[in-house]
Amino acid sequence: MKLTADNAIFNFCGDHAPALKITPPATLDIETLDCFSNQLRNPEDKMEQLDWDRINPATGPIFVTGAEPGDTLKVTINRIDLNEQGTVCCLENEGALGHLIEGSHIRIAPIENGMVKYLDLQIPVRKMIGVIGVAPAEGAVNTGTPGPHGGNMDTLLITEGASLYFPVFAPGALFGLGDCHGAMGDGEIGVSGLECPALVNLTLELIKGKAPAYPVLENQDAFAIIVSQPTVDGAIALATELMCRFLEERLSGYTRPEIIMLMSLVGEVQISQVVDPEKTVRFVFPKKYAPHIQF
Ligand code: CA
Ligand code: ZN
Repeated sequence: MKLTADNAIFNFCGDHAPALKITPPATLDIETLDCFSNQLRNPEDKMEQLDWDRINPATGPIFVTGAEPGDTLKVTINRIDLNEQGTVCCLENEGALGHLIEGSHIRIAPIENGMVKYLDLQIPVRKMIGVIGVAPAEGAVNTGTPGPHGGNMDTLLITEGASLYFPVFAPGALFGLGDCHGAMGDGEIGVSGLECPALVNLTLELIKGKAPAYPVLENQDAFAIIVSQPTVDGAIALATELMCRFLEERLSGYTRPEIIMLMSLVGEVQISQVVDPEKTVRFVFPKKYAPHIQF
């Protein structure tokens, strides 16, 4: 099963007609455009030529049969195949340093043998998915904005081998993804990663009930709660509190103060991105200190 990139949405919304209906569990390929809808693929391309109405496409939405508000959609990323090149940009008044530059700038970087060739440098490929989510609780949220529904979380941990648990807000969940990166540092300070078209293979499963407040990520090593808020401080506060409650529900035998001390000893606040309309932070708890816990 494959969903092609011409099924592009520019907001997550419960009113969208499904591009595809699946019955979970289901494994499928999803083709994605880059965050510029592949409009900047040649070194001579200029950001001035961009049609800004086609920024941050997500491929979807996928209707998950049986998914109802209050349920949890589990998404496991099996594989990300990137196009052979990516585009990185920075522009005036965008990102953390937009006040220090004039105009807009792009560079094209080829990807070969697991390395990104940026200028005369070789950077190891770090695949990730920038935009991934479901329809929000209310209205339409543009695909450039992250939130409880996921969306533009730009989080390095969203990569091959990771599973995400999303709260379902709309019947069918209406899942979509896009904005894959071949490289990005925490913060995404220049407003762009290495933006790449991609083919993503993933598995969708439905868990009845249990909807988390914000997306929860699980990989081989850790659980992470990914929270987006207007400020980094606000996101840190909420991610930390949600992880405390997550652990409290699963670690019987420890008091709340003992859990907080454990989080202080081995947990980590990590910053995903500081350049989107809401800022995204994750609280990461290593599973080796609670190997039996499950979502
Ligand atoms: Ca992004
Ligand atoms: Zn991106």
